[in-house]
Amino acid sequence: MASVCVAVRVRPLNEREKEMSAKVIIHMDGSTTSVHCNKKHIPKGIPGIGLTDGGRHSFSYDFSYDSTDVRSPNFVPQDKVFKDLGCDVLKAVFEGYNACVFAYGQTGSGKSYTMIGSPGDLGLIPRICDGLFCQISEKDQVDGASFRTEVSYLEIYNERVQDLLTTKTGPGSGSGLHLREHPKDGPYVQKLSTHLVQNYTDIEELMHAGNAKRTTASTGMNDVSSRSHTSFTIIFTQVRFDAELPCETVSKIHLVDLAGSERTGARLKEVANINKSLATLGSVISVLADTCVTGGGGGSHTGKRKKQLFIPYRDSLLTWLLKDSLGRNSKTIMIATLSPADVHYSETLSTLRYANRAK
Ligand code: ADP
Repeated sequence: MASVCVAVRVRPLNEREKEMSAKVIIHMDGSTTSVHCNKKHIPKGIPGIGLTDGGRHSFSYDFSYDSTDVRSPNFVPQDKVFKDLGCDVLKAVFEGYNACVFAYGQTGSGKSYTMIGSPGDLGLIPRICDGLFCQISEKDQVDGASFRTEVSYLEIYNERVQDLLTTKTGPGSGSGLHLREHPKDGPYVQKLSTHLVQNYTDIEELMHAGNAKRTTASTGMNDVSSRSHTSFTIIFTQVRFDAELPCETVSKIHLVDLAGSERTGARLKEVANINKSLATLGSVISVLADTCVTGGGGGSHTGKRKKQLFIPYRDSLLTWLLKDSLGRNSKTIMIATLSPADVHYSETLSTLRYANRAK
């Protein structure tokens, strides 16, 4: 199984960018994404990388999704993203593998739109959940297998884990939950609540309840949600009978909403924690991508090159938590979301480079 699949997606110009007469600087051709920016387009005084570095940069990914213009024949809608990425996740999960889907990008670039979408324009999470329950009912009738679906929902804010689905430990209370590692089953969060679900409506209700509990709610600050990571995890158990003996397979799907990749507006401690976890995630994925190319397993000697690769999972809570769903025997999908506007040139270039390391 390919280790990591990387897609980038660019959204339409928003009203604010139009008012600023911003120019579209992203061009996509097949799987290649180019950013082309003259120095005159780059606003003065905005910190960040790439500012002295206008011109053209091209990168090639597994998928480049152009959603800048709804009327264009090239416009990539939500169902295409699901067909390319979501169907693979479902296939892997029914085969017993773990999966992880995460969206990376600056706040306002389209992470939630791609992951969740809106009632009339569903994103990846509802489509994956819907597909899961559709396939469960089909398989249930065909081969008599039985299935159990449970979910958990947690937030990582300032390197602390909070359960978003329990009344016992509200956000901001106590020191958070502990992450542990089971020798056979891998990392788990001690005392994290799990909830049995029967259909997507059950999942939607839990997601709403969890979202209301995010740190945003407890601090009264609207934009704090862009500074925490959340992972909505589906624990999917399949039971089949092999020579009359039950055979159980458990897979996990982590659906991860990352903190915004921008570095403005956050407090110092938050910036340090966000930097660390996003940088560690980038490093882990980059090592996994190399491992795949050289044909070896994570953390061991790889293929002919005998390169010792150390995967720094435990350098951040996020990567430690996702350890058994990143690379190796799992389907990992990264979607990097972009604004098309010249005024976001430096963030966009930084996102493209981050996604490029993951290939
Ligand atoms: P983020 O989660 O990264 O902060 P959002 O998903 O909230 O960003 O997107 C910001 C705005 O842009 C929303 O109004 C959303 O509907 C719109 N948007 C984002 N991506 C797309 C897209 N691919 N096509 C159309 N509109 C989009």
